[in-house]
Amino acid sequence: MSVLAFRSLSRLPWLRQQRRCQLCDEAADHAQRDLCSSCEAELPWLGAHCRICALPLAADGLICGNCQKHPPTFTRVEACWRYAFPVDSLINRFKHQARWPYGRLLAELLAEHLLHAYAENLPRPQALLPVPLARLRQRQRGFNQAQMLADWLGARLQLPAHGNWLQRHQETPAQQGLDAASRKRNLRRAFTLGSTGSLAGSHLALVDDVMTTGATAEALARLLRQAGAARIDLYCLARTPRPGDI
Ligand SMILES: [Zn+2]
Ligand SMILES: [Zn+2]
Repeated sequence: MSVLAFRSLSRLPWLRQQRRCQLCDEAADHAQRDLCSSCEAELPWLGAHCRICALPLAADGLICGNCQKHPPTFTRVEACWRYAFPVDSLINRFKHQARWPYGRLLAELLAEHLLHAYAENLPRPQALLPVPLARLRQRQRGFNQAQMLADWLGARLQLPAHGNWLQRHQETPAQQGLDAASRKRNLRRAFTLGSTGSLAGSHLALVDDVMTTGATAEALARLLRQAGAARIDLYCLARTPRPGDI
């Protein structure tokens, strides 16, 4: 078949590769991603939230009680969703069953959210820093989900992602079940800086899949500020609501 004939054939809809929605398997009506508009609308988009830590709140433009009492070292958290169905299960499958297309889809939506936020005057950082996993954990899992998210975001936002600047050098006992003070103590000892060059005056954004208490982001932000960074933000897919809230 000539190239010309093939080209005109490939314009026929039945020959074109149809994108399918990753959630419901219906035809995806978006040219760039595998998600249909009704599934997209049903995702638990973050509504009103704390201006600093993105905690879901009843009204917008407020700062939550915790950030007022203990102002965090990081400046701002950007997240797309509440950590709720189906985003929680998509993140879990991405992380624990290596279902990378789910991670990639969510990263794509977060990148769009960030591009929109930059257009609305959110300052652009100079680099993305994935929250590191301890080496043993990374060996067991085979990859660091935060690193993958940072790489996908970096490509889309045209920002470098430095996977070796932050290191988690100590196996910390599972954080669940520990009180806040023990968590903080553990975390402060857990991270070190790799060779980063000068951080003086820099603006950096940490990248993680979910933000729960913010203790990890706080520990890393302190480390980076001590090394001279001027501003640290955190980009994550989802923010955990306060227990008992929707
Ligand atoms: Zn769908
Ligand atoms: Zn807050």
